[in-house]
Amino acid sequence: MAKHLGFIGLGNMGRPIASRLIAAGYYLTVFDLRPESVAALTERGARAAASPAEVASAVETLLLSLPDPSIVREVALGRDGVIAGPKIKTVIDLSTTGARMAQEIGAALAAEGITTVDSPVSGGVAGAINGTLALMVACPRAIFADLEPMLKHLGRVFFVGERPGMGQTMKLANNLLSATALAATSEAIVFGVKSGLDAATMVDVINAGSGRNSASQDKFPKAILPRTFDSGFTTGLMYKDLTLCLEEAGAAGVPMSVANAVCELWRRAFEEIGAEKDFTTVVQLVERLAGVEVRG
Ligand code: NAD
Repeated sequence: MAKHLGFIGLGNMGRPIASRLIAAGYYLTVFDLRPESVAALTERGARAAASPAEVASAVETLLLSLPDPSIVREVALGRDGVIAGPKIKTVIDLSTTGARMAQEIGAALAAEGITTVDSPVSGGVAGAINGTLALMVACPRAIFADLEPMLKHLGRVFFVGERPGMGQTMKLANNLLSATALAATSEAIVFGVKSGLDAATMVDVINAGSGRNSASQDKFPKAILPRTFDSGFTTGLMYKDLTLCLEEAGAAGVPMSVANAVCELWRRAFEEIGAEKDFTTVVQLVERLAGVEVRG
């Protein structure tokens, strides 16, 4: 594939992912609404475009890393959207949008001869910086073979199916588990601290025992015990992912009683702590009600 790529959405994830592609020898044409995010990439040699359509006029392949489904639809199909670019052939969506949006956008772009690849990612900002993301790719196999060498610069690449949206379903299932681990671990640690246990000792014990999970191994030691709350993933984005998961599981006829309870916790974190706050602040909801704080 060509060494010239487009990149739209240079936020917490997009910026380090785009930087890795530049470091791997790709030349990027980029777009974001925030000038400071664009500047961070042009300083590294990327060219700034004035709209998604301009990116799609310059390259055959572009990547999207945008916050939510409605923004992805607008950037892909709206006025001055990717669909208006004459050169574009393949759009790789790294955002979490849900399978139904991936299918809707995929069908609209396919009508113009453009292939959509869903490739949501997991592994957080640290994974984006270090190239250790998990990429969940759904697209025609021949296209996957062409894209895989480029995607490998970003992390482990998993081909999950040919149907549009299959990567998205995989991602929502993964994030349900990530959210559930953080919610349940928050309750477990606050319970222990209120009962007189030391939070750091609890995390060590859990990580040596059968309770270990992504929150006890990663979020608690790195962002909650030191009270930095800086994982780089916001409460608003996690609430979006859980809502999408419940909607799509409901449409598929799958009961989700645990997911409902977990989503309700994030709805409260969204309203009471704030959508823009780091998603690890969800522990503060439990702390407030219990009247204790979890510290390392
Ligand atoms: P972010 O909010 O930090 O970045 C999104 C970027 O999109 C911002 O720079 C914003 O200016 C830009 N943007 C918004 N609207 C735009 C538009 N109309 N045109 C062009 N640019 C626009 O979000 P993020 O944390 O980087 O997440 C991006 C996606 O990746 C989301 O779908 C999220 O669910 C997913 N994700 C995030 C993480 C994480 O740890 N942050 C991990 C895995 C997946």
